[in-house]
Amino acid sequence: MKKRKLCLVGNGMAGVRCMEEILKLAPDLFDITIFGREPHPNYNRILLSSVLAGDADIRDIVLNDWNWYEQNGITLYTGETVTSIDAEQRNIYTDCGRVESYDDLILATGSLPFMLPLPGIDKEGVIAFRDINDCKTMMEASKTYKKAVVIGGGLLGLEAARGLLNLSMDVSVVHIFDNIMERQLDPVASKLLQSELEKQGIRFLLEKQSAEILGDTRVTGLRFADGTAEEADLIVMAVGIRPNAALAQESGIEVKRGIVVNDYMETNIDHVYAVGECAEHRGTVYGLVAPLFEQGKVLAKRICQMDAAPYEGSTLHTKLKISGVNVFSAGEFMDTSDTRAIRVHDEWEGVYKKVLVRDDQVVGAVLFGDTKDSTRILEMIRTNATISELQRVAILQNLSSSSGASELDYVAAMSSDEIICGCNGVSKGTIVEAIYEHGLNSVEGVKKCTGASRSCGGCKPLVANLLQCVLGDQAQTSNQKEPICTCTTLSRDELVREIQEKCLTSVREVMHVLDWTEPEGCSKCRPAINYYLNMVFPELHEDERESRFVNERMHANIQKDGTYSVVPRMYGGVTSPAELKKIAEVAEKYQVPLVKVTGGQRLDLLGVKKEDLPNVWRDLDMPSGYAYGKAIRTVKTCVGSDFCRFGTQNSIQMGIDIEKAFERLDTPAKIKMAVSGCPRNCAESLIKDIGVVGIDGGWEIYIGGNGGVHAKVAQLLCKVKTNEEVMEWVGAFLQYYRENANYGERTSAWMERIGLSSIQRALENTETRRELNYRIAAALGVLSDPWQDIIQKENIRQLFENVAVNV
Ligand SMILES: Cc1cc2nc3c(=O)[nH]c(=O)nc-3n(C[C@H](O)[C@H](O)[C@H](O)COP(=O)(O)OP(=O)(O)OC[C@H]3O[C@@H](n4cnc5c(N)ncnc54)[C@H](O)[C@@H]3O)c2cc1C
Ligand code: SF4
Repeated sequence: MKKRKLCLVGNGMAGVRCMEEILKLAPDLFDITIFGREPHPNYNRILLSSVLAGDADIRDIVLNDWNWYEQNGITLYTGETVTSIDAEQRNIYTDCGRVESYDDLILATGSLPFMLPLPGIDKEGVIAFRDINDCKTMMEASKTYKKAVVIGGGLLGLEAARGLLNLSMDVSVVHIFDNIMERQLDPVASKLLQSELEKQGIRFLLEKQSAEILGDTRVTGLRFADGTAEEADLIVMAVGIRPNAALAQESGIEVKRGIVVNDYMETNIDHVYAVGECAEHRGTVYGLVAPLFEQGKVLAKRICQMDAAPYEGSTLHTKLKISGVNVFSAGEFMDTSDTRAIRVHDEWEGVYKKVLVRDDQVVGAVLFGDTKDSTRILEMIRTNATISELQRVAILQNLSSSSGASELDYVAAMSSDEIICGCNGVSKGTIVEAIYEHGLNSVEGVKKCTGASRSCGGCKPLVANLLQCVLGDQAQTSNQKEPICTCTTLSRDELVREIQEKCLTSVREVMHVLDWTEPEGCSKCRPAINYYLNMVFPELHEDERESRFVNERMHANIQKDGTYSVVPRMYGGVTSPAELKKIAEVAEKYQVPLVKVTGGQRLDLLGVKKEDLPNVWRDLDMPSGYAYGKAIRTVKTCVGSDFCRFGTQNSIQMGIDIEKAFERLDTPAKIKMAVSGCPRNCAESLIKDIGVVGIDGGWEIYIGGNGGVHAKVAQLLCKVKTNEEVMEWVGAFLQYYRENANYGERTSAWMERIGLSSIQRALENTETRRELNYRIAAALGVLSDPWQDIIQKENIRQLFENVAVNV
């Protein structure tokens, strides 16, 4: 049978996704041609925010590479714009002079960013945030310019702002309303979000109407209607999008706000369909992928002439993709006269949750600070679930947060039809079935087979937990088959396995033997490989300082003016008059501009010149406090039982013992510890990677706390009776973390990924703990104090003095 000729205009997320559905249903029905204005294969536009924030590379976000088109017999024209359609003759025309006939035509032309028509809009340095090109422009601009202004405090604007902040720019967000993300959040959640982002370094200028872009050829600032102005050498406009429907309109297809379609995505012209952000369905134009993918499924069935249920519209839900900021909004979010709300606002934990109910039906929700309930609540909204009085009480009692139950318990308690991947509409049942049917054991496998986690990626931890729930130890959840960087296809676990099996002992050897695409590697993989080599072969591998980040190469923390900070070790935060005198003399001798007590109870000499570092260390004659490294940092202690009238245990001695036992040890990310003498917790043990708390007759050991940007309360690992047991468990935990976490992954993120219970299970066996302690002892055995090494060894000192400072 002769194939029908199907043309797709727009090589973006919605159009190509619909094409994938068509290929699944009827791979041989159509002869397919795709036109895309951008010069790239189909990529994940959502993850542009991650590219900008430095969490992904452009190569990582390709959804279908060039081979995919070839393998599916698709003719692809990129960098080519369709300029008109002759619907009578069924021909389309492009800006390259091509004429292509069709039997069926899908328009998936997406949206165009809306640019405010301000005087000066055409100046250099004024851009939108929509495609790879915009992303590249911002990354390039950040190398030369410092001050960015983002106009628009919506989801896109905030993600752009966070990305620019990561690129070391000063960032202000200008918003016309008094609340950011006012289309998804109520005022309480909006203010909480603003305050969190302000803590991260973003400045907000609210209720400001932009009036003029200042500058000659390049932008120098933004003037507001109230006469005030803000300096800027980059302006990113994120004030909204408009459906890209001009092509359709000029070709006689009905367009209102977008291309008007019915419930089967058919336009008013026979054999012409529209899908994605360019389409207007029942008066609504969607700007998030979940509804667009639902539309694509309906259209695929329709075009393949299969029975299709009509598309009746979608419930919108949003998650902000800024790491450490958990925000979720779905359905209705503002209280109205006919809705009632179930609300939780824990100001200590920074958690705010609101579920809106109308006539016993859940109609919307806003979650801030803890979004683990989001899938469950979204499902209730989607299915118009009614809730009983009992459920009303329980609806916000998150299984996985304060109750101490693990993430695995949470996913285990989900029902089979609950949706795990909101973007792609993949349920728990579908994933479990695929795991059994196709023998899947990794997130990547689940992604390929079911589409779960393929878009915004927010559900990856949930998929990983589900895998672990179903397969236990067989699940490769830490091996998510995510390459460690773009120089290789190897994931962290594969890399470590290769190092072990092939007995590789240098960074260069790893890259050579394992076919790195970049012979010199990159700043992401070089330090990671060096860490893994040290971890696997502590006695064989000679640490490669040139592979380390600048702070670790210099053994001091570089400051914004190019000077360094020096923090000598003070075990357990205890010092002496003699030590204090010595520090004071050094500070005076080298004219150290600032001496400061740190949050970890140490003294920090700030502003030391690079050339003075070795002499400062020599005169101090104290060990390095490693305040600069991915390593054991400080053990903070409280006064404890020797002096404090509440103390039940000697926290100072315990802190000193722990610090002395594990100092200098490299870890995947920095490790902060604390020991408190009683549950009053004066040393803040519950926000440390490892927190030890004295109790009557023993100790509690907490893990996975974090007091930084991504604040997390530590969870109880175990209770023990003796000091020796504390040392044994701390040693075992540290080594387990060293051997299993990704390089750069803090204990809090690692624990969230793999679950507290899996760590408890791994460490409960005495023999395992013994072996872990044996291995950590081997790693500790080869370490020496780096400051002393530099002072004593001429060759290292020379190396140190000559080292180029590349941050
Ligand atoms: C930075 C960013 C972050 C986002 N984050 C999220 C998120 O977290 N969650 C979410 O759900 N959504 C998010 N989105 C929105 C999501 O990316 C879009 O909803 C989705 O990409 C729309 O798909 P589409 O195919 O309709 O349009 P597009 O992906 O824009 O594709 C349309 C394509 O058609 C091409 N085209 C247009 N006209 C022509 C023509 N005449 N000839 C040839 N080609 C043409 C365009 O160049 C474009 O490549 C985000 C968007 C951005 C920019
Ligand atoms: S934690 Fe307990 S022992 Fe330590 S200082 Fe506070 S009250 Fe005293």
